[in-house]
Amino acid sequence: MPLNPIDTLSRKDIRQLQLERLQTTLNRAYFNVDFYRHRMDSLELLPEDVATFEDLRRFPFTTRRDLADHYPYGLFAVPLRSIVRLKVSSPMLRDRGHPIVVGFTRHDVGMWQALMMRLYEQLEVTDRDIVQVAFNFALFPGALTFNQAAESIGATLAPSATISATLQLQIMQDFRSTVLATTAAFALHLAETMKRQQLEPANLHLKIVLIGPDPLAEETRTHLERAFGAPVYGLYGVSEMVEPGIAGECPAKNGLHWAEDQFLAEIIDPATGEAVRQGQEGELVITTLTAEGYPIVRYRTGDVTVWHESPCPCGRSLARISPIARRTDNRLSVRGIPLYPEQLEAMLASIDPAIDDLRLVVHTRHGIGERLEILLARQPDREFLQGGRAHYQEFLRSHVRRALGLGVRIQLVERDRLPREGLIRKTIFKRADTPYDQRR
Ligand SMILES: [Zn+2]
Repeated sequence: MPLNPIDTLSRKDIRQLQLERLQTTLNRAYFNVDFYRHRMDSLELLPEDVATFEDLRRFPFTTRRDLADHYPYGLFAVPLRSIVRLKVSSPMLRDRGHPIVVGFTRHDVGMWQALMMRLYEQLEVTDRDIVQVAFNFALFPGALTFNQAAESIGATLAPSATISATLQLQIMQDFRSTVLATTAAFALHLAETMKRQQLEPANLHLKIVLIGPDPLAEETRTHLERAFGAPVYGLYGVSEMVEPGIAGECPAKNGLHWAEDQFLAEIIDPATGEAVRQGQEGELVITTLTAEGYPIVRYRTGDVTVWHESPCPCGRSLARISPIARRTDNRLSVRGIPLYPEQLEAMLASIDPAIDDLRLVVHTRHGIGERLEILLARQPDREFLQGGRAHYQEFLRSHVRRALGLGVRIQLVERDRLPREGLIRKTIFKRADTPYDQRR
């Protein structure tokens, strides 16, 4: 398959293109978004002062809190009538009670879709392929882009919906799906269902499996490749920008090619904010280069990675990031749903102020957070909210499920029986005792 012209630009040309687009972004931000204009004014910075990438370092970082503080439309750079799609961050990716709202213009939606097409093409998905997209569409808005991009490259889209593993496997066999896109947690569940049904990889027709939006750990890849008898690839995105679409693996599996024409990456030392030397691990900071609706300058993603510009065997000159190894904050992921422990604690305290202390237990399998358990202690002299002790756990459980879209296990224990550590990760070696529910 011939490479996309952007894939073979020289490093010099890519940097030149980025610099030109950076100027456009800074102008857009300065003249259309009060937040950026005030910041730049206070630093006596004008967009034209940023003539090099080094100049950009004078610009302050944008944080998740900055985004949440301007809920809902405060950071939009275009009038609402120019926005064709709104996307809201996951339930727990909120700050001061607000989620993050991203707006896309027609151009932005097209850019996102074009990026997904590139990621498919990078993995040699063509109009001969049958693509099966198995996500929870309500919880992961990016799933829609898998569909649109598959259709746009002329592939056949298998019927996709939020359905059980058994039905997904049935569709996979009947429609002879060649490409499966899903989360790591659901892929593991599919693999287990295959085992139970004694369904061999040879009964399927899979050519590749795409995993997102959570990072794909090597341990998970090895396990899934054996189960599906097909190569498994990872994708990268940021829910506050596009997710997925910012980076993705090629068949060489030695990093995720970065969409350098659309997003400018910096790798910084999270403690000092200074750039690290190339090849050193650091936090990813991203500036959008063409986004019209929601331009973001120097956004601290919290994702830790390494930047590579060495040649890739696939022939693409676009730089690569290593799969995200960890985060700079304590964000957890359970079944692909991001969670901040302190926000979960605050939410529980608001439901029941008599909660004295609690522990989160994340049960993981093949390196993936699969189940969340909350151990909590109440002040002994306080009355139960309603229905007494018997109903208490169920009451909290359904509340958390509604708020997060995630089923959890809640156990009320005596205070002195709470483990000492604040966060516990337990590895599940056998099948989870609760049946997997994709609706969570
Ligand atoms: Zn490559």
